[in-house]
Amino acid sequence: MLPPLIRGEHRSCFGVTEPDAGLDTTHISTFARRREDGGYVVNGRKVWTSTAQRADHILLVTRTTPIEDCERPTDGMSVFYTDFDRSKIDVHEIANMGRKAVDSNAIFIDGLEVPEEDRIGAEGEGFKVLLHGLNAERIIVAAAAVGFGMYVLEKAAAYARERVVFGRPIGQNQAIQHPLASVWMRLQAAELITYKAATLYDQGKPCGLEANTARNLAGSAAYEAAFRAVRTHGGFGFAQEYHVERYFRESVLNFIAPVSEELILSYVAEKALGMPKSY
Ligand SMILES: Cc1cc2nc3c(=O)[nH]c(=O)nc-3n(C[C@H](O)[C@H](O)[C@H](O)COP(=O)(O)OP(=O)(O)OC[C@H]3O[C@@H](n4cnc5c(N)ncnc54)[C@H](O)[C@@H]3O)c2cc1C
Repeated sequence: MLPPLIRGEHRSCFGVTEPDAGLDTTHISTFARRREDGGYVVNGRKVWTSTAQRADHILLVTRTTPIEDCERPTDGMSVFYTDFDRSKIDVHEIANMGRKAVDSNAIFIDGLEVPEEDRIGAEGEGFKVLLHGLNAERIIVAAAAVGFGMYVLEKAAAYARERVVFGRPIGQNQAIQHPLASVWMRLQAAELITYKAATLYDQGKPCGLEANTARNLAGSAAYEAAFRAVRTHGGFGFAQEYHVERYFRESVLNFIAPVSEELILSYVAEKALGMPKSY
């Protein structure tokens, strides 16, 4: 599955989120029914599936046993990597506030046939398969947020150095300097915990806390960098010409996907501080 993806021959999308389950992934209802002559037939719907307009494959998370028949909610799920058969999947683009280079979609799956060999891992063990990839994703999006934050911060600093008001650069005012300096420090810290998470991941060690912390610190610092870039640009921060309004819109996603800030905080409270699970 991987070599054609890496060579760029396959374009894949990832279908986990469903409209009626949200972050509560074990409550998805997309179902892969086993056929007597082998393989599966999938019915269901997904939402926010990125790049489904152009994908030719999908990494698809389904139930293969209804949750009511499972001992634990995490049982009875399966993961497939299979052809994105457009005769069986309807794709509707969702208009949204950013990411114009990446389409977001609601998809409706009706009778998608999936051969047995397209299943990843054992049937019913899909939740474990899914978890295996999530920390890596958190680390990658944290690293992206650090880069985004540093880029936007430099744009703000450059404007602050050049824009002259009251006879001096606005960047000479501490009210402009301090928030930008504070974001710089937050981004440095976020970068370090991102590297720590990546190192643990590469060593095959547990890294859930570090990966989630990195994702949250980097994402919130990136958001602050973009917000401060808009503020530093004053009226022009609101104009499309300087792009900072766009970066600000893009940065909001850091609190939402691939996992929300609320869920990260709940996870850290539970795993780092030993408090009761709240979700
Ligand atoms: C641009 C974009 C691209 C995406 N790409 C993909 C993709 O390619 N594939 C895919 O499968 N998904 C994708 N997603 C989905 C994304 O992962 C989800 O939107 C995200 O996980 C949040 O789920 P939800 O939108 O259903 O929110 P909900 O689960 O409905 O939550 C709504 C709000 O309630 C809060 N909340 C819910 N439960 C609790 C609780 N117990 N405690 C505290 N707060 C709670 C959440 O934190 C959130 O703020 C994408 C989303 C976006 C916006």
